Amino acid sequence: MGVSPDVRAQYEAVIGLEVHVQLLTKSKIFCSCSTRFGDPPNQNTCPVCLGLPGALPVLNREAVTMAMKAALALNCAINPRSRFARKNYFYPDLPKGYQISQYDEPLAESGWIGLGTDGTGKRVGITRVHLEEDAGKSLHEGFPDSDSKSYIDLNRSGVPLIEIVSEPDLSTPEEAHTYLTRLRTLMLYLEISDCNMEEGSLRCDANVSVRRRGATGLGTKTEVKNLNSFRFLQKALAYEIDRQIEVIEGGGEITQETRLWDSREQRTYGMRSKEFAHDYRYFPEPDLLPLVISEAWKDEVRRCLPELPQARESRFITQYAIPNQDAYLLCQSRAVADYFEEVARLSGEPKLTANWILNDLAFLLQENAKPFPGVSASNLAALLALLQKREISGPMAKEILAEMIRTEKSAAEIVAAKGLRQINDAEQIAATVREVVAANPKQVEQYRSGKTATLGWFVGQVMKATRGQANPQLVQEVLKRELAG
Ligand SMILES: [Zn+2]
Repeated sequence: MGVSPDVRAQYEAVIGLEVHVQLLTKSKIFCSCSTRFGDPPNQNTCPVCLGLPGALPVLNREAVTMAMKAALALNCAINPRSRFARKNYFYPDLPKGYQISQYDEPLAESGWIGLGTDGTGKRVGITRVHLEEDAGKSLHEGFPDSDSKSYIDLNRSGVPLIEIVSEPDLSTPEEAHTYLTRLRTLMLYLEISDCNMEEGSLRCDANVSVRRRGATGLGTKTEVKNLNSFRFLQKALAYEIDRQIEVIEGGGEITQETRLWDSREQRTYGMRSKEFAHDYRYFPEPDLLPLVISEAWKDEVRRCLPELPQARESRFITQYAIPNQDAYLLCQSRAVADYFEEVARLSGEPKLTANWILNDLAFLLQENAKPFPGVSASNLAALLALLQKREISGPMAKEILAEMIRTEKSAAEIVAAKGLRQINDAEQIAATVREVVAANPKQVEQYRSGKTATLGWFVGQVMKATRGQANPQLVQEVLKRELAG
């Protein structure tokens, strides 16, 4: 498929995302079965979530509280009265023949989320946030007779979900990616979902259309499903946008349909013609009362909200004077942001702390396959203090940190045991420098004839001779003096 950049530039995409988030309640939304992931198939089931005749649903209050947290954090208005509805369709993983969802009276509406830090960047409208139950899972692979049979696991049937529907305010795959990242971080901060895309606790569908740049009407949209990673989301959107442009450029028309992203073939393909709402014959769920949310309950939930990630990011930028990108990365996880604040407080060095957490610590944890944080906040602060006092050099600090992660010893213990101490004595360094200079007349000649890049080589030799303990800045100064002859 080929759409040239020139042609692509004549169009703009209109994208809206529908995101399903599995809530972290202990029990399901309408029964007391466990929501635990990975249990043996069909273990966590009962007459309610199996859809047996006569079983009656009872709403889980915790699921409502979690949904309210999400809605408030997304600046939505929570409806004082909302209602559950039956969405009727047949599928083997849906034993009742309908899904209990919310339709014309959702939990919350009319919110927004910014794509930048607090109060900056594009605002993406949130059309609605509603509660619903998850379906079971069809297992098409992994059994000896999988070529002729599919199996059903109903452990997931009745697990609470919220669906977050955005306005079609996104115009590029990159914006969609940023939106989903912001949304995910928010849910993680609220501790209402683990947002694990591989396990399906965060799922994303996209509505996509294209129109000529500058046009105001909307083109016919397709719904792209199966976007189960951030990478797939971007790739699938880019593919689908180009596909639609190509159809229109070729004189064709876009068909309103549901398309699946095939990650193996790197393309979307038509799955079925898009259902319209009336196909589902929605009607109010007769077994559940309307959901009434009092002002008091709403206030209570609002009071429990933590500092939200984008607000925290803004605060980090002003309070700690760290670069925007560092603040963004640190605030991606509440645990990392908490850890940063603790180390920064103990060390009094926020910039240095941000640097070490985002670079060396992150790298070493990955290299050693250790979970975050690997070293306690006080131990990292102590290491940074040694560095700050110039008792150890940067390369030594890296070596010590690696050892700290491996052995869980403190920086001071490792420094003492290894005899690692930075040499800040100019005389002592000068002695080594003179030895190195005397032993390498050829390189000295090169340096003096104008090849000053040789200086780096000399620094390396001196560092090697001092087992990395010489203060590198001092080494440079002394070397320049000695080499000048
Ligand atoms: Zn159950």
